[in-house]
Amino acid sequence: MPSNTRSKATGQNSDVTLLTDILAIKRTARNDPKRTACENPARKENHRPVNSAEIIEISSDEDEEPVAPKRPAVAASSKLRNLQDKIMQLEKENERIKKENEEMRKQQAVAADLEEQITCEVCSAKLWSPFILTCGHTFCQQDLENWFSTALRQHRNVYPHYNVNTIPVNVYGIFQQLPLPPYTCPKCRQSVRSKPIQNFAVKGLVRAVAGQSGETSPKKPADATNVWGQFFPAQ
Ligand SMILES: [Zn+2]
Ligand SMILES: [Zn+2]
Repeated sequence: MPSNTRSKATGQNSDVTLLTDILAIKRTARNDPKRTACENPARKENHRPVNSAEIIEISSDEDEEPVAPKRPAVAASSKLRNLQDKIMQLEKENERIKKENEEMRKQQAVAADLEEQITCEVCSAKLWSPFILTCGHTFCQQDLENWFSTALRQHRNVYPHYNVNTIPVNVYGIFQQLPLPPYTCPKCRQSVRSKPIQNFAVKGLVRAVAGQSGETSPKKPADATNVWGQFFPAQ
């Protein structure tokens, strides 16, 4: 019978294909230690017939498996390189910040030193009108005026006839040169025998530094050319 023969032949072909697939799966399973180890023992006992859909699915997994372990390794290597690059960048950034901080610290030290140089040691204000004494110390004009005024007043308590530019006559009608008031430096107490001199270097520095912050001289002191004449005789 042609139909029976065809049907039988088709059935035999199907059986041969199924058997071939099963053998292929078993071979693969034997050769794959991982798969054998992971195999569920419960499934071993359950010898149900294998259906073709399962065979195809498992075979598909087997084909991809050799590639799978390589991908995480490549990704991890790439991540490691990225992290190493980032660490290097952060180290460079850290070095740059360290140098900037060191530079800033130096500038702050210079600024603090400069601020000290332009600050009056008597009134702690900026030396807007600085005058230098023979000892080398510099003070505000106003501070020196006050300091010398005190010395002059005390001197006149002892020598009531003292006048800076005249030589008084004594009780015997003789001109008597009286001693100068004992003017001294407010800091080192060295004797001051001549007029203070305007310190132009400090004056310019004060204006340059103050100008950076928009600060201006608070008030203009009295004309210095006439101020010292009340304390020191004309040369
Ligand atoms: Zn001062
Ligand atoms: Zn001094």
